[in-house]
Amino acid sequence: MPGDDSCNIDDRHLFRATMATTNSNSGDFDAIIVGAGFAGLYMLHRLRKMGMSVQVFEAGSGVGGTWYWNRYPGARCDAESLVYSYSFDEDLEQEWEWTERYATQGEILKYAEHVAERFDLNRDIEFNARVTAAHFDSEQKRWGVSTDQGHQVTGRYCIMATGCLSTPQVPQIAGLAQFQGPTYYASQWPHDDPDFAGRTVGIVGTGSSAIQAIPVIADKAKHLTVFQRTANFSVPAYNQDLDPEFVKDFKAHYPEHRVKHRLGLVSSFGGLELPEAQQGVAAMSADDYTEEEMQLILEDYWQVGGARFLSAFGDVIMDKRTNRIVAEFVHNKIRSIVKDPEVAELLCPKTHPIGTKRICVDSDYYATFNRDNVTLVDVRSSPIKTITATGLDTESASYSFDDLVLATGFDAMTGTLLKMDIRGADGTRLADKWYAGPKAYLGLVSAGFPNLFLITGPGSPSVLSNMLVSIEQHVDWLCDLFEHMAQQNQAVVDAEPEAEERWINHVNEVAHSTLYPEGGSWYLGANIPGKPRVFMPYAAGVGAYREICDKVAYEGYSGFSFPEATQA
Ligand code: NAP
Repeated sequence: MPGDDSCNIDDRHLFRATMATTNSNSGDFDAIIVGAGFAGLYMLHRLRKMGMSVQVFEAGSGVGGTWYWNRYPGARCDAESLVYSYSFDEDLEQEWEWTERYATQGEILKYAEHVAERFDLNRDIEFNARVTAAHFDSEQKRWGVSTDQGHQVTGRYCIMATGCLSTPQVPQIAGLAQFQGPTYYASQWPHDDPDFAGRTVGIVGTGSSAIQAIPVIADKAKHLTVFQRTANFSVPAYNQDLDPEFVKDFKAHYPEHRVKHRLGLVSSFGGLELPEAQQGVAAMSADDYTEEEMQLILEDYWQVGGARFLSAFGDVIMDKRTNRIVAEFVHNKIRSIVKDPEVAELLCPKTHPIGTKRICVDSDYYATFNRDNVTLVDVRSSPIKTITATGLDTESASYSFDDLVLATGFDAMTGTLLKMDIRGADGTRLADKWYAGPKAYLGLVSAGFPNLFLITGPGSPSVLSNMLVSIEQHVDWLCDLFEHMAQQNQAVVDAEPEAEERWINHVNEVAHSTLYPEGGSWYLGANIPGKPRVFMPYAAGVGAYREICDKVAYEGYSGFSFPEATQA
């Protein structure tokens, strides 16, 4: 297959410490990867090219991670398809045909499946196997990993490619089990899509998932009742079929586009690209403009659509005045779209600065509330009391429906990691070390958990970036580290506690120089009762972060320790 034949033979000789035993429930590997989403697939591909024996465990029955699970109606990526894709293989990038500006969940899943087939990845993936525990054996210097299917394997490196939004939040609403009709979680949608035609549906939640699902469900259902606790800012996607000429031109310049994304040279520091015409404007402070000029600029961005709307002014997440003007612009858009003024006011987000919760990207979300078959219920002023057999009761009224949809979000960034029983060098549980919030040097390695790596972990740009850009950066950086270790005859790498502490302080400092902490978002853990309130992603952007990681590597992996030489 294209792309797989360029293996560097010298690299292969670096990794022959382990003989893998495959096709059984046990075995010893150079590396164990948890998760076969985009991070796990690329990690597997790279490690295999380095000659390592690798075992991947995946809880789902197929590859794709978030795109395997999140099949709710209307699910699409809110990053544009041409940039939400791997850059590591030129043939793949040129040959794969995206059909729409924003790819559907189905198309992205097909892409992940294609990548797995193209690079022959499936043979090293054990599907339907959820990792339950990972313990570091300090004598053997190996991780022991167990699954719910009885696998017990060991490996030198253990790589958590578990995704940031992979543990659904079961909302703490009384009576959830009493509902007698079907209950659907947006994040675990059934593979045989339910038909809502002629049915009444209630949906709890108005985050990105619900904002995509609501217009599609409303189009089918007899009636849809939307239970909103917090209104969210959403920008029109203006999704459309991709113009072949645009695609041809974009593909002809893929290398330049990719470099811009990796270095954060385009003004959106998350690694998403602005149209050429807008690149000069963004990153500028709103101080350079009058309010009237700002309205014109915002209108331009609104007309282009997408999450890049937030890039109109570089200081929107830093400066309260800018933020207020941008938020009010969206409020006025909502008021102009939604005919009932009371409903429009309820839909105007007023509880958080714009951008401090993940901005949503929609197709006809606000206009859906003009439909006769859609009702908006404010469960902030009158909270949900209980789910009943036939619907739900708020503190002021009862509602009934045939189907219940819960689009109630995720225990983000740490939920999946902490569900596993992960124990480090001295037996400490990761959950205990992270009781006050996640701690990992560069968001990659948590001190005391040697040879355990977190792809797009807390403390890295992660969910504030184009995930594909961040995944590739982490995987490539780790492969360089592994090569360095092999060359230096090092078996074990750990983070130095002081370096980790300094990094965590820096991540916090950056976060607190912005308005993010005011958002009450899942970035902060604020959506999960009892979760420590710590701003988890690194907010300085992918370019700055990459520079730091590269400098660390250049300095011989400063902040990391290499306590053990390779065992024979
Ligand atoms: P979310 O943004 O966390 O939204 C969850 C919603 O459920 C919120 O409106 C929340 O209200 C509500 N909720 C939770 N518990 C509730 C309760 N007990 N009673 C009433 N309401 C309750 O989750 P999400 O929509 O799944 O999105 C999560 C993230 O996934 C996004 O921010 C995005 O990063 C990613 N995502 C991306 C895409 C895309 O690329 N297009 C699509 C979907 C999701 P409160 O805000 O009041 O807590």
